[in-house]
Amino acid sequence: MTTPVPDHFVHVRGAGEHNLRDVDVDIPRDALVAFTGVSGSGKSSLAFGTLYAEAQRRYFESVAPYARRLLQQVGAPHVEQITGMPPAVALQQRRGAPSSRSSVGTITELSNLLRMLYSRAGSYPAGVSRLPAEAFSANTAAGSCPECHGLGVVHDVAEDLMVPDPSLSIAEGAIAAWPGAWQGANLRSIVRGLDIDVDRPWRKLPKKQRDWLLFTDEQPSVLIKPERDRIDHGYYGKFWSARKHVMHVLADSKSQMMRDRSMRFVRSTPCPACHGSGLRPDALAVTFAGRSIAEVNALPLGEVAALLRPVAETSAGGSGTSAATTEVAVRISADVVARLDVLLDLGLGYLSLGRSSTTLSPGEAQRLRIATQLRSGLFGVVYVLDEPSAGLHPADAEPLLDVLDRLKAAGNSLFVVEHDLDVVRRADWVVDIGPGAGEGGGRVLYSGPVAGLEQVEESVTGAHLFGRAASLDHTPRDPQGWLHLRGVSRHNLRDVSVDVPLRVLTAVTGVSGSGKSTLVSQVLSELVRGHLGVAPEDPDEAELEIDVAGAAGLDSFDRLVRVDQRPIGRTPRSNLATYTGMFDAVRKLYAATDEARRRGYGVGRFSFNVAEGRCATCQGEGFVSVELLFLPGTYSPCPTCHGTRYDEETLEVTYRGKNIAEVLALTVDDAAKFLADVPAASRSLETLRDVGLGYLRLGQPATELSGGEAQRIKLATELQRARRGHALYLLDEPTAGLHPADIALLLRQLHTLVDAGNTVVVVEHDLDAIATADWVIDLGPGGGDAGGRVVATGTPTEVAGAAGSATAPYLARRLG
Ligand code: ADP
Ligand code: ADP
Ligand code: ZN
Ligand code: ZN
Repeated sequence: MTTPVPDHFVHVRGAGEHNLRDVDVDIPRDALVAFTGVSGSGKSSLAFGTLYAEAQRRYFESVAPYARRLLQQVGAPHVEQITGMPPAVALQQRRGAPSSRSSVGTITELSNLLRMLYSRAGSYPAGVSRLPAEAFSANTAAGSCPECHGLGVVHDVAEDLMVPDPSLSIAEGAIAAWPGAWQGANLRSIVRGLDIDVDRPWRKLPKKQRDWLLFTDEQPSVLIKPERDRIDHGYYGKFWSARKHVMHVLADSKSQMMRDRSMRFVRSTPCPACHGSGLRPDALAVTFAGRSIAEVNALPLGEVAALLRPVAETSAGGSGTSAATTEVAVRISADVVARLDVLLDLGLGYLSLGRSSTTLSPGEAQRLRIATQLRSGLFGVVYVLDEPSAGLHPADAEPLLDVLDRLKAAGNSLFVVEHDLDVVRRADWVVDIGPGAGEGGGRVLYSGPVAGLEQVEESVTGAHLFGRAASLDHTPRDPQGWLHLRGVSRHNLRDVSVDVPLRVLTAVTGVSGSGKSTLVSQVLSELVRGHLGVAPEDPDEAELEIDVAGAAGLDSFDRLVRVDQRPIGRTPRSNLATYTGMFDAVRKLYAATDEARRRGYGVGRFSFNVAEGRCATCQGEGFVSVELLFLPGTYSPCPTCHGTRYDEETLEVTYRGKNIAEVLALTVDDAAKFLADVPAASRSLETLRDVGLGYLRLGQPATELSGGEAQRIKLATELQRARRGHALYLLDEPTAGLHPADIALLLRQLHTLVDAGNTVVVVEHDLDAIATADWVIDLGPGGGDAGGRVVATGTPTEVAGAAGSATAPYLARRLG
């Protein structure tokens, strides 16, 4: 490292944001600075809440002086003085659900470049005039396919969904998509009147008849005569095919329940007009290097680079069509290839441009944004990053650090909130905060070159960094039976066979894109869920077909628990108190106070989701949105309730001196003391502390929680239920975003689940976690097409010695 010149520092004086205790610290610029400390110690409060927030505030003040009043409303960070702070760019992982219309191509801005390339330098069919760049975008009126409005999918009924059991006859209700009761009986009479055998098993009917019954638009009328009644002359009944009925309900029914029922018979399939690309035929007819833009969008980035590299490396104005076109083609291709190379360096070559951002892991999305910044040509900027290594295999973390070094070499500063000790070791400087979380933290324990942290006794980070912390020794358990999967195919897994041991803790490892999530969160989860006959949480999942040749041992489980990183709620109205159910106990407590009884306040009065007791200005949200030209979606505390969410009368009711808003403002640790004698609440609170979440505030909105925090809240909620039986627990990177000390805490909980007779399977990158697993399944060896195979499997020690595994060398070093 280059020792920073003394005046190349950012000086912070008197920082008091959140739990920070009047912090003074000097942080070097033009360096890679790691902010460390246990979860909740105050790293983000310093890096994001103070430094980034202040830089941003100054920037907006300088570009838009008129916005000053509004900025005051948003609130300046709690700090006396910051000097020497350059403009800052934040690359955070959490917050803000991605829109389904954004993709790898839009995040990286490569889509814009490609559209320009096709518009200006594509090969057009003879006689067709050039199209504008928008014509190559499915998100514009000019470009979107008229059949599917650019979505690329159409919804249609499917036979296997409408007739789930083809061994039944029509009379026995084979066509599940038809209405029930009288209408259904009526349809069956009509079919009988059409001379179709309603007593024959569905699958024995001729295909032509089956198709007609399900899909026809014809609606013949048939005279239906009651059999025994001689006086009744009957009536004419009109036929409805199953599709016609389903579509009619979807289009016209006012009953949400009816529409939901009908959706069960509908499957989304790629639009036949545009083959899923969402584009118009004229745009699809334009090619470059022999491919349409839709084809290029579907290729892995590595192949796109290979396709365009020859063009990029052509000297402009050479052979080819018109000189001008060639020059444009070369220039744009060169730009695309240069950007792609950064993504390939970061190990993301297996992604495609068209891949929707909703299917990306937070780590993949952040690396895309980091790569995009590298090309932006900014210098003299502070990049503030949130755990850039989270979710990365150690083999993927190295190229990421190289890219960070390049950003630094281009004249920028990098402030990273980081837990991964290998990244911390590479930093030029470390700011360690602690020693504990919340009230127990908030002090700068050390600020200086990494080596000096060794001398800091009270630093938990130092203890782990320099091997002073107790290691998590563990003797592997023996499997109690096996789950055998044969011939699994999905994404890059092709005909894979894998055995998962029962009643032990298994870590599934491998580089990014090797197929871990596909195997664990999709295939394994869907198989077990299907076997247990449980409906999926996410309706989209039901659409995928499970391609597995054989599975044995599924009977072993009586329950499936997926503890994933999806948010515990999508609005600020949900928080950990509401999610765990603990808030019900708190509301009961308030409703039972003498004051509440005297006023006639029930439990509903104490909910901020019900009109009764909530603040009318913000409707219980606690904040209002501020319209600011450059800052869309900025929120400021509600001027009426000052963020408490309740109306004044409700807040007059107190329990042991605190009103309900004050309870929501408590941390889990403090609430555990305050509510120690309320069993329904304290049980939840204790399990939350057990998974290392003691620092969270009860009312912290779901939208402010990181994926890792959401996951641990789910785990705690699960642990507090303590049930009998054999459950399969599936977790995707449960240690992401955790300090080594918190990882130890979490691992203990997972092992408790195994000791209680359950099976736990985790997708993991953390070497401590892998080392304490009973069994390891290593996928790879690379990402995308270069992965998808089981490279090694066995105890951690066995896998550490396996040849050809990207995980083995790192694991071997860890096991020492
Ligand atoms: P870290 O980044 O080290 O995990 P944070 O800076 O996020 O820690 O949090 C430090 C402390 O500040 C914690 O006790 C946390 O609960 C509290 N805190 C975080 N965000 C807020 C907020 N928006 N309002 C009040 N307290 C907060
Ligand atoms: P890992 O969890 O090991 O990072 P994944 O299981 O997410 O790997 O991905 C394995 C492969 O499957 C990669 O090539 C990835 O691009 C592809 N893939 C994953 N999810 C999807 C998806 N929703 N659509 C298309 N391809 C996908
Ligand atoms: Zn279409
Ligand atoms: Zn309010």
